[in-house]
Amino acid sequence: MKLLREMVVTDGKVYDNNVLKVDSFLNHQIDATLMLEMAKVFYEYFKDEKITKILTIEASGIAPAIMVANLFKVPMVFAKKSKPSTLKDNAVFTAQVHSYTKNVTNTIVVSEKFINEEDKVLIIDDFLANGQAVLGLMEIVNQARATTVGVGILVEKSFQDGRKLIEDKQVNICSLCRIASLENNEVKFNIADDEK
Ligand code: 5GP
Repeated sequence: MKLLREMVVTDGKVYDNNVLKVDSFLNHQIDATLMLEMAKVFYEYFKDEKITKILTIEASGIAPAIMVANLFKVPMVFAKKSKPSTLKDNAVFTAQVHSYTKNVTNTIVVSEKFINEEDKVLIIDDFLANGQAVLGLMEIVNQARATTVGVGILVEKSFQDGRKLIEDKQVNICSLCRIASLENNEVKFNIADDEK
């Protein structure tokens, strides 16, 4: 998506040759107009899939996911990174997710009430790096005996393993912006995306 690539170049900052900071428009201060435009692309891509639920992980997945859910007219569910005391142990789906940027492992939690075997789930997240967040969400969908019909990502870091690990599970990924390299703290996009 051209607009997102332009924002990454003008407003993004690269750290340590591998982390892209986008907190002025994607995940701290949020550009709502851009979020809606991105949600429309996911809607067009997945609109024939009879999606019944959008699933993401707190916190930065929530903004894009709610926009997408609004277009599909289905509920959005977000996995919590710790279990609220109001949820009973046996009433939740859980998965382990190692956070690449924070270097911690969280047990992510979704109440059993909100995903069931009839659900066709679209997973949305801001970044795809090593794929751990998305794989954890897919594990929760599996526990619910529901189906993951696709994954929508705002920024894919294609030089990490995430895409391959998800494609190995035969799940379709739509990434709005694919980064080939952040070497020398400089953003290089996948050449194949230049015209889109
Ligand atoms: P993964 O689980 O695919 O390794 O990483 C995905 C999660 O890590 C995303 O939910 C995102 O919050 C965070 N993340 C990974 N790489 C980056 C990055 O370069 N910049 C930012 N802002 N977040 C990232």
